[in-house]
Amino acid sequence: MDTTSLTGKETAAALNADTERRVGALTEKSAAPRLVLVVANDDPASGWYVKSLRRAAQRLGIDCDTVDLGADAAADTIRAELARLSADAAVDAVMLQTPLPSGVELNDVSVAIAAAKDVDGVSPLSLGLLGAGLPGFPPATAEAVVALAKHHDIPLAGRHVAIVGRSNVVGKPLAQLMLAENATVTVCHSRTADLPAVTAAADVVVAAVGRARLITGAHVREGAVVFDVGTNEGPDGGIVGDVDPESVRGKAAALSPVPGGVGPVTTALLMRHVVLAAEAARSA
Ligand code: NAP
Repeated sequence: MDTTSLTGKETAAALNADTERRVGALTEKSAAPRLVLVVANDDPASGWYVKSLRRAAQRLGIDCDTVDLGADAAADTIRAELARLSADAAVDAVMLQTPLPSGVELNDVSVAIAAAKDVDGVSPLSLGLLGAGLPGFPPATAEAVVALAKHHDIPLAGRHVAIVGRSNVVGKPLAQLMLAENATVTVCHSRTADLPAVTAAADVVVAAVGRARLITGAHVREGAVVFDVGTNEGPDGGIVGDVDPESVRGKAAALSPVPGGVGPVTTALLMRHVVLAAEAARSA
């Protein structure tokens, strides 16, 4: 079977074209949307991600600042900064980078981000809004899987979707988004018994594990659609997904590549959330 590559470039370009137009309209009327990235680590991967977000924002005309609190910042300091930015009318959107300093829990600090500015949907309030089906920002990575599926005309309603991973940033919010698309959802994790049997029963498999090439042809039934969310460091320093593409290709009907699949759509959706937050703030 020929396996279609579910590339994210075109989906991201379509989203970015709309974002750029809306940023232009806002900038003409008042000021460019403003995103603030809050960093409390000295992790190289996080540093790389911050740079790529700043570049993406710049390309679209979004102002993007970074506040560096240092890798040993206390939870109180991080919370206070997030609360200050949430109350600042000149800031439209706030993103807290991970990893956090050791001993600092994401839920304990992200709770200080106002839901209206929580463009990556990380706070307990944003996650609750998503679960309740109320307006708010879903985590961009989870939303990117659904956006990629829609762009490539992959039907979700009535289909069995198996998600491998149950984190608050990908697996759990994606389960909510898939339910909202009327999919039947199974969420797998490290204690799932016989993972290959569970995923091979699904029409759509989403790998969001953080283990390089864990999902192989044995986990996927003939003709299934596979989304790879994983971004792991490969042996040569490149990025490797959670899916083993060689063994899945030829068996799956479609597979999202890493890099170039979910990643670019995630960034485009984050920037879209920034402009939506700015539009809402300025019309309030
Ligand atoms: P995470 O918080 O570490 O969660 C990993 C999940 O995978 C957990 O639920 C864990 O189960 C489960 N798991 C681990 N080993 C397993 C195994 N052998 N079998 C089945 N399940 C297993 O990771 P995350 O933050 O969700 O990220 C997942 C992946 O997505 C990572 O590669 C990350 O880099 C990537 N990511 C990509 C983007 C993007 O924009 N493309 C954004 C965010 C994350 P337990 O709950 O039982 O521990």
